[in-house]
Amino acid sequence: MDFEAVIGLEVHVQLATESKIFCGCSTKFGSQPNSNVCPVCLGMPGVLPVLNKKVVEYTTKAGLALNCKINRKSVFARKNYFYPDLPKGYQISQYELPICEHGYIEINIDGNAKRIGITRIHMEEDAGKSIHGENLGDPSASFIDLNRTGVPLMEIVSEPDLRSGEEAKEYLQKLKAILEYIEVSDCNMEEGSLRCDANISVRPIGQKEFGTKTEIKNMNSFKNVQKAIEYEIKRQIKVIKDGGKIVQETRLWDPDKGITISMRSKEEAHDYRYFPDPDLVPLKLDEDFIENIRKTLPILPDELKEKFIKEYELPEYDAMVLTSSKSYADYFIEAVKHFNSPKKISNWIMSELLRVVNDKDCDIYEAGILPEYLAEIVKLIEDGKISGKIGKDVFEEVIKTGKKPSVIIEEKGLVQISDSSELENIVKKVIESSPKEAERFKNGETKLMGFFVGQIMKETRGKANPKLVNDLVNKLLS
Ligand code: ADP
Ligand code: ZN
Ligand code: MG
Repeated sequence: MDFEAVIGLEVHVQLATESKIFCGCSTKFGSQPNSNVCPVCLGMPGVLPVLNKKVVEYTTKAGLALNCKINRKSVFARKNYFYPDLPKGYQISQYELPICEHGYIEINIDGNAKRIGITRIHMEEDAGKSIHGENLGDPSASFIDLNRTGVPLMEIVSEPDLRSGEEAKEYLQKLKAILEYIEVSDCNMEEGSLRCDANISVRPIGQKEFGTKTEIKNMNSFKNVQKAIEYEIKRQIKVIKDGGKIVQETRLWDPDKGITISMRSKEEAHDYRYFPDPDLVPLKLDEDFIENIRKTLPILPDELKEKFIKEYELPEYDAMVLTSSKSYADYFIEAVKHFNSPKKISNWIMSELLRVVNDKDCDIYEAGILPEYLAEIVKLIEDGKISGKIGKDVFEEVIKTGKKPSVIIEEKGLVQISDSSELENIVKKVIESSPKEAERFKNGETKLMGFFVGQIMKETRGKANPKLVNDLVNKLLS
């Protein structure tokens, strides 16, 4: 029997507001522990929450960018659970009436567009952070940092429309790109600005009903999300094939071992006893508020992709890759401003630069080469100053040293030999040292051109102008 996977993602996104969702405390990351706190976010008795308008604006903006219906009325609810990092004993969230519903994201799977439904987006406050003693030199103690309590989050819940780890990764990348374009979050996964839980089940192909799902937590990169999902799908299929049953549970991803581990079963799940928060009136938005935010929406990835195809005459694939993240698109636009050869620049970004970005797992601007330097390398090649091969060496050297390409070429004496008299001497020398090949070439074995070009490149350490070499070999051997 063959199985298919069913996956739905719950993504928490920290909103890039200056202050918290229900008080005026700063949201700054990395502050001294417990310095960004006040009676409201510490959950003191008698305090009242006041909703931050920016949080509503940002979430509405996200809802519009994700094709959601924006509810004119939404309600904050208390989600009750006991946890040391939750001083009030409840988290303010939204439950029955969230601010956004019924949206979608379009992802690209093997060249085909696929729509992934978004069930809902709601606003909520973050909890604090427990730091266990072994990390602070006292294994017997636990510490609590409440700077994060009350930091605004939106939770974006997808429909169970995803079918593989790869689709989940595509969905997350597209979601992140859109959120970056609309500038409502820095989407920094390491700092926890974007966190993802994955719900996964499997079913025999052809079966309509969903199987029992498990929820995976603790994946802090897109690669890990994909790996965790792929592992979990295999695990579930094996359990079923071995005659077992999937139990509904929460599992943790262990990135070092590459496996998921049971954390708590359904029986241990919390009963959150949600009820509308009596301290907060229902949130009512008027049409003007929503329309004014709609007007602030910037160009989004899919639209920018079409623009790249039209304005820069890029192939669809290039345009898709380059708009898949706001920083890629910005980088490309900047590089093209320095040297207007869009397809060549695109090739260099997609082949050389994104390889470095992948290896270093960093932002494109942190890879080690400025857009103007990349443009300079492309220009040097186009102008015939260096060969493509040398261009790649120069690229690596820029990444290593941060030096300007022209400086590297100067220092290392890499300028291409385009002086035909200088080159002619070298070509003659090579021909003289390979008399047999020269004879065969003269007798019509022109495929030996490759041999001569190779020898000459070796002799000049890649600096010979290839076109000139061809001409000279033909001239001297005809
Ligand atoms: P819960 O009540 O357990 O929180 P929800 O119905 O709210 O479950 O769904 C939470 C997430 O799980 C959503 O992203 C949804 O798409 C996904 N989901 C729901 N049922 C399944 C299933 N059987 N298999 C995989 N994902 C599912
Ligand atoms: Zn506060
Ligand atoms: Mg739910």
